[in-house]
Amino acid sequence: MGNSDSTGEIVIGAIDIGGTKIAVGMVDDNGNVLSRLESPTDAAGGYANGLARMIEMLHRTSRDAGVEISGIGIGSTGVVYPGSGAFGDVDLLPGWQGNNPVQDLAQEFKVTVALENDADASALGEAGWGAGKLKSRLIYVTVGTGIGGGIILDGHLYRGVDMAHPEISHHVIDPSGPDCSCGYRGCWESLATGPAMAAWFNANAAEDRRPPENLSAAQICQLAKSGDELARQAVDREAHYLGLGLANLINLFVPEVIVLGGSMMKSAPLFLDGIRKVIRQGCRFVPYEKTELALASLGDDANLIGAARVWHHRFRRGIGPPS
Ligand SMILES: [Zn+2]
Repeated sequence: MGNSDSTGEIVIGAIDIGGTKIAVGMVDDNGNVLSRLESPTDAAGGYANGLARMIEMLHRTSRDAGVEISGIGIGSTGVVYPGSGAFGDVDLLPGWQGNNPVQDLAQEFKVTVALENDADASALGEAGWGAGKLKSRLIYVTVGTGIGGGIILDGHLYRGVDMAHPEISHHVIDPSGPDCSCGYRGCWESLATGPAMAAWFNANAAEDRRPPENLSAAQICQLAKSGDELARQAVDREAHYLGLGLANLINLFVPEVIVLGGSMMKSAPLFLDGIRKVIRQGCRFVPYEKTELALASLGDDANLIGAARVWHHRFRRGIGPPS
């Protein structure tokens, strides 16, 4: 366990690997970010280049914070293999498949290293230090340009066979809905993301004989707040589809809490009543009223904090939420 046999506080080198940027920082025992740096992912520049920048940013952020790295946690856009530590065939990281940052960083820093899918990392962060603290059955859902999620059952991250990350965004809500990247039609992700909401609004705005103007989901939420009728319909529709997906999760898992994050949840007050209405409609055989809907609380560094929590979850026993 690296330096954890010293009496000092454990500080984790956290790495958040996304399609556009890689963030690196030092995260202390309470989930506080002590220092951080980021760099464009530059996936096309190759894995070796990406790894070199991660190593450099780990050295620099540990120097900036004046700390020793006790371990390293990574949350990455997927598909990744937490068991081996290798990248799978990641859409946003072409050419990185088969490379293993867990082995490479362990060799460089002589500490233990753990890797998870970034949504699982965020779920662990919220469960350990955020809105899901002390809850043992938690589902984290992030809604933005896509939908992602992580499931924590009895204090442990749920993984499928081969430690696979379940894809909660690809459950079908409407089989006659829009095509989805996965091969189905009408997946939750094809109906309830920000771009899905914007696509519906912009298509109907044309029929409404409005001037052509492609509004973003955030702009549509703003319009809805000012009372625009079509924008309000778009918001109602979004709440309906968000609600259907969340109701399915409640019927399947009956978690104590669903933690909602992602850019769309910056407008959560617009959606929550509609979401609760859908849940009330169809979750009557489970105690749905006991499932709390909470907003993610770790803020802009949630992914980094989650990445640190990946290490804690893997290597530090007895600190998880009660089961
Ligand atoms: Zn799909």
